[in-house]
Amino acid sequence: MERDHGSRGISRRTALRLFGVGTGAGLITGLRGLEGAGELSAASLQAPSRTQSPRGAIIRTILKDLSPEALGNGHILFHEHMSFDRTFFERMRPPNAPKPTTPTPPSYLEDVDVITEEVKASGKEGIGCIVDGGHKDMGTSYANLRTIAQRSGVHIVASGGYYLQTTYPPDVQTQSEDQLVEGLVRDAAAERWGAFGEIGSSPEMTSDERKVFRVIAKTHVRTAIPIFTHTSHAGCKACALEQLDILEGVGVTMRNLCIGHLSDITDDPKAETHKAIAKRGAFLGFDTVGHQLGQGDSKKLALIMAVLEAGYEDHVLLSADFASERETKFNGGAGYSSVSMVFLPKLRYAGVKEATIRKIMVENPKRFLAFVPKKAS
Ligand SMILES: [Zn+2]
Repeated sequence: MERDHGSRGISRRTALRLFGVGTGAGLITGLRGLEGAGELSAASLQAPSRTQSPRGAIIRTILKDLSPEALGNGHILFHEHMSFDRTFFERMRPPNAPKPTTPTPPSYLEDVDVITEEVKASGKEGIGCIVDGGHKDMGTSYANLRTIAQRSGVHIVASGGYYLQTTYPPDVQTQSEDQLVEGLVRDAAAERWGAFGEIGSSPEMTSDERKVFRVIAKTHVRTAIPIFTHTSHAGCKACALEQLDILEGVGVTMRNLCIGHLSDITDDPKAETHKAIAKRGAFLGFDTVGHQLGQGDSKKLALIMAVLEAGYEDHVLLSADFASERETKFNGGAGYSSVSMVFLPKLRYAGVKEATIRKIMVENPKRFLAFVPKKAS
């Protein structure tokens, strides 16, 4: 990637306008300002043809299908969480953890009013679309997501599938792969899923998880709906490649695949795993950035810089995997704006050009989410 020392010349006001930050006016106003800024040519705002979505491609939000252009110019977060119920947190408790003596209290992610306010506030700061990475086995309510989309004015893409061995319903074992595919095709249409995700595997992939990956890949082949995955937050190079091998083997379109949580791989300072995945055509999910959970941002930033320097900026996706009550806006945090408000300034400081940032936050996720619906979808 190129260093953009010139971008430091952009006034704070221009920079704020570029990203719709704090103005409530959104990015359309910002981009009008951009034309006059002389920092970026019109050409640099358009993705080169090799990175454009196919004709007839749509992005499926929970409320409607939109052309990539109609989705607007706001930042797109491809992996967040806006709806979990308390059963999810119960299921994720480690088996050897002491049993709580009192019932699990409701999760803040069950409160539609609270989440609507969080999403609406981030919408005013330039977030145009959020992909929810939950599904039924994580206690996600599609009805709640629909309400949040209607009330907040921010586009929401709902996802489906299965998460991890620990959350699977009995169906995963009792049904054949073909039966599971049929069920997912049906539910995807009924619930208007715009993606399959987050589809996870344990550090040691179980045989049921392998089955689920094949099922999701086959359902993708039937429907063309994009896929994003979960690898262990402890960082797991082999898991990422194993997922890719299975999905690629069944014929998943690499343009509609994102291998997730690659920001958590910290034993690969030159990002060789990341580059290998990008080389095979998939998107790289740096989707745990901008918040205080887990490891800090500095190693994650270094990984992204290594990928950009290798020329893979068309493959980078950012998100926060945000599900932290402590860092919500109502608790004084950045909420769903954490990527835009907390992490992007670090990328700029590292020298990443505004055109590249726009590509990563707008054009890349649009390309990842855009698909040409097949009859089965
Ligand atoms: Zn995850």
